[in-house]
Amino acid sequence: MEGFVEVRSGGIVVDEAVIDGYHNLKFRVATHIHSDHTVNMDRSISYGSRIVGTNLTLKWLKCLGVQIPGSQYIPLGIDDSIRLSNGRLRFESCLHIPGSVQVVYDRDDGVRVVYTGDFKKPSVKTPVIDSDILIIDAVYGRPDYVRPFDDDVEHILNSFIEKLLRNGPVHVYAYYGKIHEVMLMLRENDVVAPFILPPTHYMMTRYAESSGLRINDYLPLTSSEAGEIIRDKYYIYFNHYSNHFNEQYLNSNNPYRIVLSGWEFNKPIRKLSNRKWLIAFSDHSDFNGLLEYVKYSNPSKLIVNRRRSNGAYEFAKYVEEKLNVKAEVR
Ligand SMILES: [Zn+2]
Repeated sequence: MEGFVEVRSGGIVVDEAVIDGYHNLKFRVATHIHSDHTVNMDRSISYGSRIVGTNLTLKWLKCLGVQIPGSQYIPLGIDDSIRLSNGRLRFESCLHIPGSVQVVYDRDDGVRVVYTGDFKKPSVKTPVIDSDILIIDAVYGRPDYVRPFDDDVEHILNSFIEKLLRNGPVHVYAYYGKIHEVMLMLRENDVVAPFILPPTHYMMTRYAESSGLRINDYLPLTSSEAGEIIRDKYYIYFNHYSNHFNEQYLNSNNPYRIVLSGWEFNKPIRKLSNRKWLIAFSDHSDFNGLLEYVKYSNPSKLIVNRRRSNGAYEFAKYVEEKLNVKAEVR
């Protein structure tokens, strides 16, 4: 099975396609919109690669300013596949952010290559796919990258927001897509406060709703309706993680602020300053989740993608020793 997969600067090359990186090939596959998975997208478009992603991923890329010409725009549903020279490529669902997928390449000779992309909750919300060659990004690749509270963090986040809302507006800062996971979670838990969104997030939410997510009662920051709600001080405002350092909107309402990051392993909530907390809500599996995926996928060979890993070599060594699976870092 040597030579079936190459990894080039984080991009995974199978047959005529490169996944989540640039290479001069017919197809560029995007598992989801996060910037570490869409590197050099403009270069792929200029080269003329056809850009393959879920409908929502392609629409969200457009919201983020990526212009894909119609002739290169290839939405691929979960039940569809595309023919490559020596096999078929298809998507499999996963839990990470809306639109994100795993990629499965079934070669005509029976060899199956799987790239997990980013995921969490393997077996429960992310199906574990049997593979011959498995490629994984060990985002939390060291044995001490474990969040023992992972199963409770949704409940913790939800209760904390509800408690704060009784006393004033709440601002939530998180990466693209994680915002939508949180909005969905709040609605599932019957939080009815309106959501106020900056323009890009508002557009993304509209596309998310048109692809079937039910978020309800969200408004663009600049609308007159939002203005009235902001005066009433009962709302949740969302913005990208990077803005929590220096937010320019709605400060006069003296909001509570919540920053979401997975890089926290000791406790689920940590106070950052007066009226501001970090909650360890991640959209990635921790070390144990990564290991579980490899174990149940049961590949003949694991490739740990160094470019998007933390502790790639430690993870590969651990897999070889504990799971007895041949593993290499590329
Ligand atoms: Zn991601």
